[in-house]
Amino acid sequence: MRKSPLFGAVLLIVLCLSFAAKVEARRGRKRIIVAHRGASAYLPEHTLEAKALAYGMNPDYIEQDVALTKDAVPIVIHDHYLDTVTNVAKLYPKRKRKDGRYYAIDFKLSEIKRLRAFERIDLKTGKAVYPQRFPLKHKLPFRIPTLEEEIQLIQGLNASTGNNVGMYVELKAPWFHRKEGKNIAKAVMKVLRKYGYDKPSAKIYVQCFDPKCLRYLRYFLGVKLKLVQLVANNDWNETPGVDYDKMLTATGIKKVARYADGLGPWIPQLFSKNKKGKIKITKVVKRAHAEGLEVHPYTARADSLPKNVKSQTELFRILFHRIGVDGVFTDFPDKGVNFLKYNRRRRR
Ligand code: CA
Repeated sequence: MRKSPLFGAVLLIVLCLSFAAKVEARRGRKRIIVAHRGASAYLPEHTLEAKALAYGMNPDYIEQDVALTKDAVPIVIHDHYLDTVTNVAKLYPKRKRKDGRYYAIDFKLSEIKRLRAFERIDLKTGKAVYPQRFPLKHKLPFRIPTLEEEIQLIQGLNASTGNNVGMYVELKAPWFHRKEGKNIAKAVMKVLRKYGYDKPSAKIYVQCFDPKCLRYLRYFLGVKLKLVQLVANNDWNETPGVDYDKMLTATGIKKVARYADGLGPWIPQLFSKNKKGKIKITKVVKRAHAEGLEVHPYTARADSLPKNVKSQTELFRILFHRIGVDGVFTDFPDKGVNFLKYNRRRRR
């Protein structure tokens, strides 16, 4: 049966209107810069010093990766290991596990507080992962903060400056904590509640690589905060049993949208650029936006750019202008904030 031209015209109008509504909804949304592990390009990651510097750069959010200590205190550290960012091997040489690693969960907070934090090192070479960053030779007394200390810093600065910088908390390896007999989700939510982060309007995102943990937060603990599903590369073995390639299909993203408000993909999952300068964009952001998810990819680093991308400005241009992401995690929050400022001015 042939459809009438009128039917075609009506269908076209409906499609255009629905597309325009989606574009309009996204336009109204403010694009954000997340200070990844603080101003981690300039000071050792996740130290209060790196967070204070990040705060002064005026990002929208500052990130906290959270793991638990032996006495179940949430601390801010990127991995559940202590050896890549502190002098733990020197202070407690006998406390490593069989695999040669030092685990935060094997140390009480009072012990962790004795450690000196420094710029991330490569365990094999003992050298800095990013050699241009804060020099290892300066032995300043940087410490690993607790989540509470960091909240107090950010809320304190919000009070003294009149600004409102948000928190962007990641629950690290819930499966590992569970294996160690600890519930990281409950422990972190207790601290967040204590500081008023329990309403949907609170300026905070909670992110995790583990979909089970996010569903647990949403449905079992009844958490009303904005939740973000992080997406790893399957090769990393980030969360046992989770297939991230599947998660990025249209069906996978639809499932994520049931329990989460946002998606945190790895930048190479969004685009690639060849030697000739041609940019190939994947369908991930389109699919996520079609399901109403915000998209905040990680991590923009001026000193470690994606293949064939020449500068951090070019990277921001691709992510914000070409692909249309809603926010970006960056080790260089000053560059991100400047980019958006310039872009806003240019748009008017
Ligand atoms: Ca993180």
